[in-house]
Amino acid sequence: MPDVGGLWADLTDLVLPAVCAGCRDRRPALRHGVCPGCVAELDALRPREVRPDPAPPGLPPCLALGPYVGPLRETLLAYKDHGRHGLARPLGALLAEVVAAAVAPGRPVVLVPVPDTAAAARARYGDHLDRLARHCAARLRRAGRPARVRRPLRALPRPDSVTLDSAGRAAAAESGNVSRADLVHRLVQEIANLAADAEGQPRRTVPRLDNDLALPDQLRVVAADLVAAAPPAEVLARAAAEVTATRGAL
Ligand SMILES: [Zn+2]
Repeated sequence: MPDVGGLWADLTDLVLPAVCAGCRDRRPALRHGVCPGCVAELDALRPREVRPDPAPPGLPPCLALGPYVGPLRETLLAYKDHGRHGLARPLGALLAEVVAAAVAPGRPVVLVPVPDTAAAARARYGDHLDRLARHCAARLRRAGRPARVRRPLRALPRPDSVTLDSAGRAAAAESGNVSRADLVHRLVQEIANLAADAEGQPRRTVPRLDNDLALPDQLRVVAADLVAAAPPAEVLARAAAEVTATRGAL
């Protein structure tokens, strides 16, 4: 059995300072990247019916967990636009509460996420609403509710709001001025490549986001992908060696 626990410990040990995704407070070792105060605020939210005024004719009943303010808004933005992929699990759990309130127990649930465009999905290391819906469905199933995710929709290309300053990074790399964050990002990409190879999937470029604080989340996500792919021991050993090399260079 490969030393998965050791790799995890190495990866989490490497992380840069964490900032709460709900209030941007800087804390050590946040569970899912959200501080206890923000967790309490999110926990206090209860699904309720909402309705735009005026409502379009034929609009079915709509529910929301809460108004789009405070930690709820900040965590959603951090997840969607700032690379905090690790929030998919807790946000999926919150979404599951809303779905559970909307659908009578025992009735099958089909979740249809609004798809990202291909460009947005590339920039966000995967389709963010799809990932959220899958966590939500898994949570519902664990609670004994039959839930599935279906993707009948496809997004047409459009300009995306996620921008990457690749020219600036290339210049920095050429000048030999590589930051600690760049080194961690290089590690993230290496682990992502190993995971893609292990899954037999094409390699994907992990975006280098403007916010360096997204890096620990990116690292967690690609490491989880790698472990989930159950690669041979030598691949995990190679990942561990990459971690050690990166730590040595920091
Ligand atoms: Zn907070």
